[in-house]
Amino acid sequence: MEKYNRAFIINGKDVAARLRAELKKEVVLLREKYSITPGLAVVLIGENPASKVYVRNKARGCEEVGITSIQHTLPEGASQSELLALIARLNGAKDVHGILVQLPLPKQIDPETVIEAIAPEKDVDGFHPYNMGRLMAGIPVLQPCTPYGVMKLLEAIDFKVDGKDAVIIGRSNIVGKPMAMMLLKKNATVTVCHSKTAYLPDKVRAADIVVAAIGREKFVKGDWIKEGAVVIDVGINRAKDGGLAGDVDFEEASLRAAYITPVPGGVGPMTITMLLANTVQAAKSQLIPLA
Ligand code: NAD
Repeated sequence: MEKYNRAFIINGKDVAARLRAELKKEVVLLREKYSITPGLAVVLIGENPASKVYVRNKARGCEEVGITSIQHTLPEGASQSELLALIARLNGAKDVHGILVQLPLPKQIDPETVIEAIAPEKDVDGFHPYNMGRLMAGIPVLQPCTPYGVMKLLEAIDFKVDGKDAVIIGRSNIVGKPMAMMLLKKNATVTVCHSKTAYLPDKVRAADIVVAAIGREKFVKGDWIKEGAVVIDVGINRAKDGGLAGDVDFEEASLRAAYITPVPGGVGPMTITMLLANTVQAAKSQLIPLA
């Protein structure tokens, strides 16, 4: 494992490649044993350039592991009922095991309504209240991809979460909140911080695990990091030099952390990989219905 200053760098690309190789084998097995090829329907509405890039990368990931991906594109002005009709069709399609509606949606469409319209067993983003509720109850089925990927990174470095103090900065439904539930399930003591949190640096200083999901470049300073902590940087920000930057001051934090994720190349590659994992899992559970 490569080291930078004091910290080992958690290479998300390597972990993702390993997981994708395993998924590829599972897909072959599903085809050989059950004549099933996992299928992912990706729905894109409008022309958001970032969304187009994400959708393209998701399709590439599918191809890599042998998942069939079908893209459905609706115009920017599409109505909510058009989208709901498409989702209803995909819910009923036998060859579609996962449905992903790329967010954000145009303003005439309510994201909650759309998320709730997706059949929970096909909700490979893990955003449906059913899947969120299962996660909250400690009996997860399909889990949100980014925090799920973070758990896989911790597993990859063989980090024992049990009994550790974790601080999550950010409380979004897609990262912060599900992250808290996943770490709690692994017996961490979890503190969720947000924009109204008082004495944030002191809270971070007490953490064995820091997960930063804020969306502000170099927000987490090196002297907030406890010696020997694991620092997971979820943030993706456009840096002043035009490149990508995380939420953590990597240079400073790597002087104190035991492990740290880089941006890019840390959490990023895991997100799509966990989407692929969820699609394979969805295909398997639709094969053998959950009791
Ligand atoms: P969000 O905007 O929904 O949430 C940001 C959170 O940061 C909020 O809960 C807010 O309370 C908190 N916050 C804002 N200012 C703060 C402050 N001053 N102090 C403490 N907390 C503060 O964002 P999100 O969707 O959770 O994403 C967070 C970051 O992670 C973004 O940079 C996003 O691009 C990135 N992201 C990366 C991936 C990936 O695959 N690597 C996936 C999802 C999101």
